[in-house]
Amino acid sequence: MIVMKFGGTSVGSAGSIRGVIDIIRQAANSGKDPFVVVSAVSGVTDMLLAAARSSLGKGSSVKGIVGGIERKHADIISGLGIAPDILLEDLAELEKVLYGIWLVREITARTTDYVASFGECMSSRIVAAYAKKCGLNAKEFNAYDLGMITDSNFGSAEILPSTYEAIAAAVEKMPSGTIPVVTGFVGKTSEGEVTTLGRGGSDYTASIFGAALGAEEIQIWTDADGVMTADPKLVPGASTVPVVSFEEASELAYFGAKVLHPKTILPAMSRNIPVRVLNTFNPHNGGTLILREVDAKRDVTAITCKKDVYVVNINSLRMLLAYGFLNRVFRLFEEFSVPVDLIATSEVNVSMTIEKNFDISQLVERLKEFADVRVMSDRASISLVGRGIKSVPGVGGRMFSTLGNRGINVEMASQSYSDVNLSVVVKEDQLEEAVRALHSEFFGAGNGLAAEAVASAVAAAPKGAYLRSRQKN
Ligand code: ASP
Ligand code: MG
Repeated sequence: MIVMKFGGTSVGSAGSIRGVIDIIRQAANSGKDPFVVVSAVSGVTDMLLAAARSSLGKGSSVKGIVGGIERKHADIISGLGIAPDILLEDLAELEKVLYGIWLVREITARTTDYVASFGECMSSRIVAAYAKKCGLNAKEFNAYDLGMITDSNFGSAEILPSTYEAIAAAVEKMPSGTIPVVTGFVGKTSEGEVTTLGRGGSDYTASIFGAALGAEEIQIWTDADGVMTADPKLVPGASTVPVVSFEEASELAYFGAKVLHPKTILPAMSRNIPVRVLNTFNPHNGGTLILREVDAKRDVTAITCKKDVYVVNINSLRMLLAYGFLNRVFRLFEEFSVPVDLIATSEVNVSMTIEKNFDISQLVERLKEFADVRVMSDRASISLVGRGIKSVPGVGGRMFSTLGNRGINVEMASQSYSDVNLSVVVKEDQLEEAVRALHSEFFGAGNGLAAEAVASAVAAAPKGAYLRSRQKN
């Protein structure tokens, strides 16, 4: 079995859904036993969340909002020529929930998740209906009807340990030959309340199903040619990295590469299942294969970056020769549930980066009770990711001199002993120039290691796995 997850743009129009069905059919014809996971149609989750918020204010707008969501799907449905009424019940239920929000003048995290779950529910119905029309034995499922049980941390729910077994047991009961088309992103608590796994969480769903079912491979079909050496929007010359390790892939995802949800790697890694990132709109590109061991001779695997970060600078002379100071600092981060990305310390200073979507105002007030605190915004972090960062001497030197030569000041830097990640913080308005300069330093013409890395990574990948993708070319 292979798990094939299709993202929002892959199911975003009638044309792209036709492409998706071709891809599924090819897998089925070559005996791969596809298990399909889908995201909501692109833009729909945003619309649903906006709908939930605006229903709070105006009951009269509910019909209009639901109408917009309905039209978006109706265009796709008519483009595919499937039954026009397949979403009627979902849309009627959605309308009721939105009126409910307006009536009680209250929106909870629980209701928000329920509203958001309609996106995947509707896209799975559309994809399954069209697959059936094309002669495939497909059937739509809500992930929670196939064992996706989570805790009740609405908005970013986590699966329970029993989920893996529950999924295996549920799928076991399915008639053989069925191609399930399953909702990404959503789950249910054991009390039966709908939850979501967090934005972009359908990748994680795919990986959980892959691990639970012992899949041969987990494929993430998106709108880019796999994991790239840098964001192609920033660096036009960026290219696909053919093979990366689980460790590198999670660092890349966590530090800004948008092709994969950061949690995706964990379940796959726990069962050692290869993950492949592929492009629905360019299906013959081999994409990126993610494996446990990658024996590539390369210094840097890819460059990634995060815009919109704060740097929090904590200074205190009390830190000098004292113990317990960092403990006090981190206890506050825990209390306010604010995760730290990068950290660097000296004898009297701790600097950290934090994503801007966290509200840190109260946390900063509390830190100020015992330290000097400065918060800098308009900052961005840039990470070089790669196993070679530790083993190839001079990577850091090249990073700093490349930036220094262009007058780009490194305000903070972080690399830990075992890490595959070397990160720096720069001013946000210098980000683009910095990433381009680093890309040409590490991947530009004349960098022998880059070309050699590709060749040796290909040679080192398990034969079956890599050849399968090349055969498509
Ligand atoms: N539809 C959800 C989102 O937009 C989940 C996903 O696409 O992975 O965040
Ligand atoms: Mg995504």
